[in-house]
Amino acid sequence: MISKILIANRGEIALRVLRACKELGIATVAVHSTADADAMHVRLADESVCIGPPPSRDSYLNIHQIVAACEITGADAVHPGYGFLSENAKFADILDAHGITFIGPTADHIRIMGDKITAKQTAQELGIPVVPGSDGEVKPENAMEIARKIGFPVLIKATAGGGGRGMKVAKTEADLDEAVSTARSEALAAFGNDAVYMEKYLGKPRHIEIQVVGDGEGNAIHLGERDCSLQRRHQKVWEEANSPALNVEQRMKIGEICADAMRKLKYRGAGTIEFLYENGEFYFIEMNTRLQVEHPITEAITGIDLVHEQIRVASGGGLSVKQEDIVFSGHAIECRINAEDPRTFVPSPGTITHFHAPGGLGVRVDSGAYAGYKIPPYYDSLIGKLIVHGRTRVECMMRLRRVLDEFVVDGIKTTLPLFQDLVDNPDIANGDYDIHWLEKYLAGDKTH
Ligand code: ADP
Repeated sequence: MISKILIANRGEIALRVLRACKELGIATVAVHSTADADAMHVRLADESVCIGPPPSRDSYLNIHQIVAACEITGADAVHPGYGFLSENAKFADILDAHGITFIGPTADHIRIMGDKITAKQTAQELGIPVVPGSDGEVKPENAMEIARKIGFPVLIKATAGGGGRGMKVAKTEADLDEAVSTARSEALAAFGNDAVYMEKYLGKPRHIEIQVVGDGEGNAIHLGERDCSLQRRHQKVWEEANSPALNVEQRMKIGEICADAMRKLKYRGAGTIEFLYENGEFYFIEMNTRLQVEHPITEAITGIDLVHEQIRVASGGGLSVKQEDIVFSGHAIECRINAEDPRTFVPSPGTITHFHAPGGLGVRVDSGAYAGYKIPPYYDSLIGKLIVHGRTRVECMMRLRRVLDEFVVDGIKTTLPLFQDLVDNPDIANGDYDIHWLEKYLAGDKTH
């Protein structure tokens, strides 16, 4: 049994994990940098430890300090949240060596999914449909032959990729050499590894991902999909569950393929299998071996607390629910509230002078923000998430419109006005959008 969890993260996700621990009667340890001494997750935790100065590499990414904080406080488990050390296999190994439970998958599974080529090969072996592409790494000298076989346009992607970096499209043969060499040099600069691979470039796909949870013993469930097609620079902005593009049969079919793959892998913990979806077909792009930012929309439509499940399976308690008992109910939308200018997306750190979070039926606000809170400039600009649930998509959108009007964050700029525009847009109302829609909309192309 786990009795004390150290939460190796900050912001809204640290608070989110803390809430789950409190509900389960588990003691909590917050860690924080000197910039986060006044953060809400620190105030609400049973104990807190300062682990270093503001830069992430000296604090939230500092494995030695975090392990020392576990030893000082007697924490027997670590929840990594998302980002930071959540997909760091070495961290999982080090905790294991210290007899501390990592609330997540095995280090081996993190490694397999962290390398894009191995992840894709593994997915294919497990029966998950993948994007047509190269068998492994592509060298400049054989790029043309492979691209011709796949068919143009093609996408060159970094093996070690993340955050859309090291990714280049070659529309025709004439673009290929340059796309390969730019992708390789970007990949080298960003990840210290210039290996690239190639995929068919899909023109108008949606981004649809499946939530899975496994117990590490060969049992696994899926909790349906999330549609995260509304993106800016490959960053998700608005997510919904269910996807407006899928029907029940499609949902259950792809969900079952993913759950079955996780059973074969004996996967432990929560995970997300990401796909591009075009013309009725799913194409695997990657698997994230952690909790996602957008997990609350899945919780809203299933009533299942994903952090409770993570803690249960990490402590050997198994899953709380069987696949056949999961009921998908209604529709949920999440808006990511960033401290950014809603037009230019330039970060807007500073002090929040007034903060009012909306409430009412079907409304959830996950945020550590409060009036007087000073947003430090060192971390990402997500200050909260607004999650709205309704019995139908129409009811959910009506509720979202009302809730956005009620939300007040003064003193800094936020992305709230962007959501007020989106909720009134006819394409959004119809669920008619792909992964390029938002970029075109922001560029002023109103035909989309
Ligand atoms: P990263 O790990 O860098 O985020 P992903 O493989 O997850 O890379 O892809 C990020 C995004 O890039 C996707 O959400 C999609 O918008 C786009 N993308 C990836 N692969 C393809 C593809 N084969 N065709 C078209 N777009 C793609």
